[in-house]
Amino acid sequence: MPLANYTPFLVAGLFAVLFGIERLSPLRDSRIELFGRVLINLAVSALAFLVALIVVRPCATRSLEWTSQQSFGLLHLIPVPSWVGAIIGFLLLDLSFYYWHLLNHKIPLLWRFHNVHHTDPALDVSTGFRFHFGEVLFSTIFRVAQVSLIGVSIGTFAAYELIFQANTLFHHSNVRLPIRLERLLNLILVTPRMHGIHHSQVRRETDSNFGVVFCGWDRLHRTLGLNVPQSKIEIGIPGYSLPSDNRFFYSLVLPFCRQRDYWSKPGGIVPDRDASRLTPNPARLAE
Ligand SMILES: [Zn+2]
Repeated sequence: MPLANYTPFLVAGLFAVLFGIERLSPLRDSRIELFGRVLINLAVSALAFLVALIVVRPCATRSLEWTSQQSFGLLHLIPVPSWVGAIIGFLLLDLSFYYWHLLNHKIPLLWRFHNVHHTDPALDVSTGFRFHFGEVLFSTIFRVAQVSLIGVSIGTFAAYELIFQANTLFHHSNVRLPIRLERLLNLILVTPRMHGIHHSQVRRETDSNFGVVFCGWDRLHRTLGLNVPQSKIEIGIPGYSLPSDNRFFYSLVLPFCRQRDYWSKPGGIVPDRDASRLTPNPARLAE
């Protein structure tokens, strides 16, 4: 049976395990009521899954089949052994996701939709699936371009898909790992503390740590910011931080409404942090 058939079960299993560990050993404390929040996240996620299943997956699969039949894409142009091609393909898939995530923050139209992922007032494994269906729909164009231009094989794509889904759940999770262990993992992977900083209400911190699987892309593009302690982070988007902003129906219509000033709270306060009070090295993961 192909790997892709196992992916949903492995991902669902990991979701359950991480959800359990979060309850026992949470990384960040949250005052937001868990049940209602998780219910909203699951409802938003359900629509995203539906779009992924009906639109994104068939389009990506067609593109994969077409590029392998036509020998189209970058990897077909460089004469390397297939295992080297698989590694390069895997890395390029992750690098392109780094750029896609960056574009979702920089292009106003894309940000309207990606904002819904960031308006979650707390961060845990259930945030990992919470994407507006519009963002998933837009990602179809990116997916088709990504797999076609790279010319990645079906096997490499399936392996990346599993690691991508697993690490997305892991880095969104609220699991408290011993800092030494997380620093070790963070030499290679995007981890919960690193991604927690990306969900901070401080704009400068949201504009850091765009990686999905490998953290090296943020090092390479100088978007790495690891020196913010988790206890100092307020999760969310300041302009959408009222309890009424995180309702299911409002989350769906939010991208189509007139947008507020994202970075100031309803009272006009712009969350910021005195950078001189942080440890000076942005490449060292704070506790
Ligand atoms: Zn983001």
